[in-house]
Parts: sequence; C-alpha cells; structure tokens
Amino acid sequence: RVVYLNGQYVPESEARISVLDRGFLFADGVYEVIPVYGGCLLQEDEHLQRLVRSLEQVRLPNPLSLPQWKSVFAELLRLNPGPERGIYLQVTRGAARRDHAFPKAAEPTVLVMVNPISLPDAELLKTGVAAVTLSDDRWSRCDIKSISLLPNVLARQQAVEQGAAEAILIRQGLAVEGAASNLFVVADGVIVTPPKDRHLLPGITRDLVIELAQQQGYPVMESVIPEDQLSVAQEIWLTSSTREILPVTRLNETPVGDGKPGPAWQQMHAHYQRFKKERQAL
Ligand code: PMP
Repeated sequence: RVVYLNGQYVPESEARISVLDRGFLFADGVYEVIPVYGGCLLQEDEHLQRLVRSLEQVRLPNPLSLPQWKSVFAELLRLNPGPERGIYLQVTRGAARRDHAFPKAAEPTVLVMVNPISLPDAELLKTGVAAVTLSDDRWSRCDIKSISLLPNVLARQQAVEQGAAEAILIRQGLAVEGAASNLFVVADGVIVTPPKDRHLLPGITRDLVIELAQQQGYPVMESVIPEDQLSVAQEIWLTSSTREILPVTRLNETPVGDGKPGPAWQQMHAHYQRFKKERQAL
C-alpha cells in the first residue's frame, strides 16, 4: 500500500513520523474519512468543508488547497486500486519539543491513506445489529473531528464486549450519537435525529439521509431524543460513511420494534443505494 505523507507518495512500510509529533504526544490534530465507491468519492466537497471547519476550530492552517487535496486523493486511489475504499486523512500540528502551547515553527504532518472498507453485508442488514447505551464521557466539542478518540474507543470496546456493534452515548438524559456514528429514531412515523450542536459530530451521512428523506417527502425532524424515547422507538438507525444506514434491532438486550429492520429503514436504505449508483454513473 502506498500512502501520502507530507508531500510524498511512499510505501506504508517506509512512511515515518517523528516521536515528537503532536498527534502522537497530544492527539493534537483532526481527520476525515471519505467513502469511495467505484472510483466515486461520495460527498467529497462536504467532507472537505468539514475538514476546513475542523482545522479552523483547532487553529491549524489548512496545509493544502482544495484542488491539491483532491489531486492527492485521485493519485492515491490510482495507486491503491480496489472496489469499496475509504480515504483516511489526518493533519496534526507537527513535530516540536513537547510543550502544550502551539510551537512557533512546526510544519503540520499530513497523512492520507486508502483503506479497504467492508460495508454491512446482506446477512447483517437482514438481522440488524445490537447496540447498548453508555454514558457520554467525551468533551464538549464533539463537533470537531478530532483524532483524540479515547472515550469513543473505550465506549466502542465496551459495546463489543457486551456483544453489540455500537454504543449509543447518553449525555444528561439525551441520546446524542454513537461512538462513531449518528443516531436516528423513527417515532410515531417521524424520522428524528438530534440537532447539530457541540455534543455531536455533524455527520455527512446524517445530512445526506435527511436530504434524501425530505426529497422522498418523509416527515423528518431535528429534535433532541430523550433516553427513554429509545425504548419506545419503532426503529433506531445509526449512520456513518463506512456503515451507511445501519438498523439497530436490539437495544440493551431488548428488541427494537418487532426486532427486525423496519419499513422506514428498508426504504431509506434503498434510496441511499440508488443515490450511490447515480453518483457513480456521473
Ligand atoms: N459521529 C462520530 C462520533 C463519528 O466518529 C462518525 C464517523 N466518523 C460519525 C458520527 C458519522 O459521520 P460521517 O457520516 O461523516 O461518517
């Protein structure tokens, strides 16, 4: 595998960064993941806009122009062929003597690599997945796509140890999002997802699902989801670039709705697949 590191395309085994890199020492950096299907980068501009915003929020200068980012992606995809892939990019504040305040002269470290992604398979989509609720122990700037993911890692691990695919995080009585996904519920026939604020990542898939649902004329509402609404929801979905729309059919060992992926999910999943196909055809 060939990766892009600081202006160069190098085999992954030869890519090296300093032990003083602030990404390594402080998790001082941001990242993005862009899904690629049949050579098409899904919502590339939206992902780049979110990157620009994350960089601004942590006061990192954007190391590349938008056309430069795009040409790095195109070149890496050429060098790393495959069917379903994800572009992972990360920018850190670079290597400098360890001190919390920003270094005066440090070059940001820029890494871009292509990962294979495995979308949920047909079997999984037939049964749906299990999720558990856990307390949200993260900071109050979850809207920044920071590489500092320890609470997300711990939550996902606890979910996996409890036989679940994802942790749904609860903050002050509200269900906010998953450890690496956004949350939707279907309640009284309405598709509901929490409004964007500092406690959740503004997911690109989330926005796309809202847009597709509105196009189809489904009722969609951005509204907080109290924890106790989860147990009476007809459907629960989790969305992300790599897992698309995932139906949750068991929550804390209890069936969601009738315990099978619901009709609203079936329809949204079909719309999402159609949208991907249309994009690839362009
Ligand atoms: N929330 C969190 C905490 C995430 O890590 C992710 C995926 N990176 C998402 C939501 C989903 O975002 P997207 O749809 O842009 O992949």
